[in-house]
Amino acid sequence: MNIKNYINGKFKNPVQDYWIENFNPSNGEVYGQIPNSTSEDIEDAYNAAKSAFPSWSKKTLEERSRILIKISELLEANLQRFAEAESKDNGKPISLAKAVDIPRAASNFRFFGNAITQFASESHESVGQNAINYTLRQPIGVVGCISPWNLPLYLFTWKIAPAIAAGNCVVAKPSEVTPMTAYLLGEICNEAGLPKGVLNIVHGLGTTTGQAIVEHTDIKAISFTGGTATGAHIAKIAAPMFKKLSLELGGKNPNIIFADCDYDDMLETTVRSSFANQGQICLCGSRIFIESSIYERFKSDFITRIKALKVGHPSDANTNIGALVSKPHLEKVKSYIEIAKDENGTVLCGGKEVIVKGFENGYYLEPTVIEVPNDECRVNQEEIFGPVVTIMPFDTEEDVLAMANKVKYGLSATLWTNDLKRTLRMSNQLQAGIVWVNTWMMRDLRTPFGGVKASGVGREGGFEALRFFTEPKNVCIKY
Ligand code: NAD
Repeated sequence: MNIKNYINGKFKNPVQDYWIENFNPSNGEVYGQIPNSTSEDIEDAYNAAKSAFPSWSKKTLEERSRILIKISELLEANLQRFAEAESKDNGKPISLAKAVDIPRAASNFRFFGNAITQFASESHESVGQNAINYTLRQPIGVVGCISPWNLPLYLFTWKIAPAIAAGNCVVAKPSEVTPMTAYLLGEICNEAGLPKGVLNIVHGLGTTTGQAIVEHTDIKAISFTGGTATGAHIAKIAAPMFKKLSLELGGKNPNIIFADCDYDDMLETTVRSSFANQGQICLCGSRIFIESSIYERFKSDFITRIKALKVGHPSDANTNIGALVSKPHLEKVKSYIEIAKDENGTVLCGGKEVIVKGFENGYYLEPTVIEVPNDECRVNQEEIFGPVVTIMPFDTEEDVLAMANKVKYGLSATLWTNDLKRTLRMSNQLQAGIVWVNTWMMRDLRTPFGGVKASGVGREGGFEALRFFTEPKNVCIKY
């Protein structure tokens, strides 16, 4: 099936006839072509967005809200179709796409459809000077949104929904590895009555299509989620043009387990925080630190639980772990298992590819647990972004805090303890944008979301996203 660009409310082939193959990770087969759009397509998308902006930015908040909520309802009505498409494109279990990805994409539109009606700005009375200042929050104009492959529609809409809610028009690019649900979203937008040109979806490689969005002089803001190296590259291009930038980048998140935690709850959640979505979530707790007194117990229980996980075809209802997203990614993850062995790590379980009967060319890998001799080895420092976690014991709070912070990333951290004072001490000192205590990936869309250090700049979520997608302007009136 050939995917097309969605520009000015219409489905179009790329101006140049360049195409890329789209793979189904569950069987390794090519099942479609996607455009590799060039700067000509971006110009086309930009012009559509620019033409739509004057009218869209002046629509009442209720009108914008109504359309966003309609998109949300249509996504919910098409849950099965979208979940199947997401699973086929990405390799994730269909049960996961149905329970998490698509419902969350719908929530993104509903949430920002509601949030925009509550978004307010400030006024400041200059007492004694006979003046009043008020702040306008004006949409930026045409903005660019670029997203990765791990949570395709979920992260794509996490950017688009606040951007259009705030009155901007958008040129958006999903990952070339998982373009399908972004393509289907175009139909839904038309059905929901989103005016043409408000959202334009352009497909292609990062280095061609993504780069053309970032380089476009009149696309004034870029909201990007993806790898740290790509984020740094984008920042370099955007800086001389003074673009507004939001960068959500990689992570290497600690999962810190103290002996006083609720053990069963911790074990259950740690299985999920390690291997959900084949470990391909930027928030996964891929470095597990366990207090020495419960290390052996945890190790044995954890391995038993991991060995029971079923690696299988994404559409099989019994599958816990589906396929990795692509062949190159599978090779990258496997290479880290070899690196771990070279660095005297011990593979406690997993480590091998899985042949799924009938789908022998799919990209399946066993969930892998590596016991590492120290926290400085590469598998403990570099983002693997697959079904591989490391475990190691710690003795004191000071030691584990130092190890948790001794990476270049700072996205999220998870802490398991029932000690209130320790919770407060550690939460204050962990270098991360998000700290979860006795839970993982519990999301409230009003909260700030993002990372520190090499995990990014800026925050998404709630009013933070609406602030990013608007420019504050102060008006000072003397009376
Ligand atoms: P990636 O950086 O390779 O690609 C992300 C997107 O950027 C894709 O759409 C890609 O086509 C595009 N891109 C690539 N080169 C570009 C360029 N030169 N100019 C403009 N766009 C370009 O990342 P990926 O492999 O798709 O995703 C995995 C990474 O994303 C991991 O590092 C993961 O941690 C990170 N991630 C972060 C978050 C977060 O919220 N912090 C969420 C999910 C994933």
